Amino acid sequence: MPRLDLHTHSVCSDGVMSPTWVVERAAANGAELVALTDHDTLAGVGEAIEAGRACQTRVIAGVELGVDANEFGELHVLGYFPAVADSSDAGIPEVARQLSSYRDGRDSRARLMIERLAELGYPIDATLVKTFSDDESIGRPHVARALVAAGHVASVQEAFDRFLHDGGPAYVARNLLSLKSSVQLIHGAGGFASLAHPSRCAEPAAAISAFAAVGGDAVEVYYRNDDRETIARGEQQARRHGLLMTGGSDWHGLHEGECEPATVPVPDEVVDRLLAAFAALEAEAVG
Ligand code: AMP
Ligand code: MN
Ligand code: MN
Ligand code: MN
Repeated sequence: MPRLDLHTHSVCSDGVMSPTWVVERAAANGAELVALTDHDTLAGVGEAIEAGRACQTRVIAGVELGVDANEFGELHVLGYFPAVADSSDAGIPEVARQLSSYRDGRDSRARLMIERLAELGYPIDATLVKTFSDDESIGRPHVARALVAAGHVASVQEAFDRFLHDGGPAYVARNLLSLKSSVQLIHGAGGFASLAHPSRCAEPAAAISAFAAVGGDAVEVYYRNDDRETIARGEQQARRHGLLMTGGSDWHGLHEGECEPATVPVPDEVVDRLLAAFAALEAEAVG
């Protein structure tokens, strides 16, 4: 049985349900440990922790950062803050500041994407994009939903395939931290850094090796619907570099057939090692 989900999204970034819904659904699916990892914001973490208390499921403060990893393009890093126990950004002001600057960059970048779409002959309603994002952490999925609402495409996926994919005609890059700075930011705040979904990047082995070289802690080996071979390769690569392993659904609620919160199987011994690492970080914060 899966016992955790360390990768989930809510309306505070590009997911479609509330933090409470995500935690309750993960708990209903048997999770003992859940992290909300919205893109570039901790806004939903307080609510998620409260929801976890109500259903006796431990919730860890988390975030997903996009980082510029040069030859690998954009990689994603998950930051976990086991010592942050009550409200969103309490105790990690440096992280909160960095996230706020990332979100400002997202706002201006969304405007550019909307302009570019209009130039391409696919105007969308900018207010709707803001509404979809709750005006918090605006991302491409919100632009994709506005394209659907305008009738230009039939689905969010079609919006990505035609316009918004990396390098696509309406794609605009963002300013990102380096891989090393992102790990330093997370560690500086007493956190734990895991390389998100390396199985989705072009060269997983090289990305994992680069992440280990900058001091990353873990790799998200148990991801969504990855097959056995992919998982086995990830396990090998993580072990080779002495990295721990994490698992998550990356649930957004945006597409058909998404893997539900807390339904990705993660071996018990992997969970136990993670819990020990999180406990050590908590003890450090107290001591
Ligand atoms: P952003 O952070 O604004 O660059 O948007 C990235 C988000 O868009 C990811 O976290 C996914 O939720 C989604 N996404 C990125 N690429 C694709 C794709 N090719 N197809 C579907 N969704 C995607
Ligand atoms: Mn996303
Ligand atoms: Mn990601
Ligand atoms: Mn994600």
